Amino acid sequence: MIDGHIHSPYCPHGTSDSLESYVEQAIKTGYTSMTFTEHAPLPPSFNDPVPTKDSGMNPRLLEAYINNVRNVKKTYESDIEVKVGLEVDYISGFEEETKLFLDEYGRFLDDSILSVHFLPIKKDWYCIDYSASVYREALAASGSPNNLYQLYYDVLVQSISADLGVHKPNRIGHMTLIKKFQQLYEPPVAWEQMAIDFLDHVKEGSMTLDYNGAGMYKEHCKEAYPPLKIARKASAKGIPLIYGSDAHSSSAITQDYDGLDSSLIR
Ligand SMILES: [Zn+2]
Ligand SMILES: [Zn+2]
Repeated sequence: MIDGHIHSPYCPHGTSDSLESYVEQAIKTGYTSMTFTEHAPLPPSFNDPVPTKDSGMNPRLLEAYINNVRNVKKTYESDIEVKVGLEVDYISGFEEETKLFLDEYGRFLDDSILSVHFLPIKKDWYCIDYSASVYREALAASGSPNNLYQLYYDVLVQSISADLGVHKPNRIGHMTLIKKFQQLYEPPVAWEQMAIDFLDHVKEGSMTLDYNGAGMYKEHCKEAYPPLKIARKASAKGIPLIYGSDAHSSSAITQDYDGLDSSLIR
């Protein structure tokens, strides 16, 4: 059992649970491998649009994070494989800075995720998973659910074709995050086709997918990222699905693993 998406005490919007507590929980659960994928620092010239300004890791803590995960990796190497990783934001227009960052730090990473949380609409940026009210504003600014979903999938497609250098992460994070508030704001009818079309890009780009259980626990989502039908289509296309708990606390390790179709998981 592998978990490829785990946060840490270095997450500014997470918990202070220690790296060891995550690893011990993972061992207890029977994991054979786990990747810490803390939110990478945002590009220096990108202004985090969320009021709490805590979407990415503090850049001053990056080296401590990498070193401490490496230490934990050594400490527990006979019990479990621990990988050093990051959840890197793909931010449209900030490719150059993201590439510079990965050129510098990518060599320390074993495994990473590329995620889209931020969308540019007109002159503003929106963090689409931050809150229902931000989501509502994004929806209003984009004009319609169809426009918002189309933009999200356009940016996801860009993230696959973007040149982020040799250390570009090869796994796409939570590919249906745009559905996080779906029980409040109904997805457009076309969402499913957009998601299915996106799978072809994932396949062409030889990338893998984060099969993320966190959405199941979000009160306005209640489904995995991606949901079963899309996960099955991805698997049928030969796209590897890597389970991700997206845990922000040690007790959230294995979050919704049982609710996913484990036969699809690599
Ligand atoms: Zn987070
Ligand atoms: Zn994420």
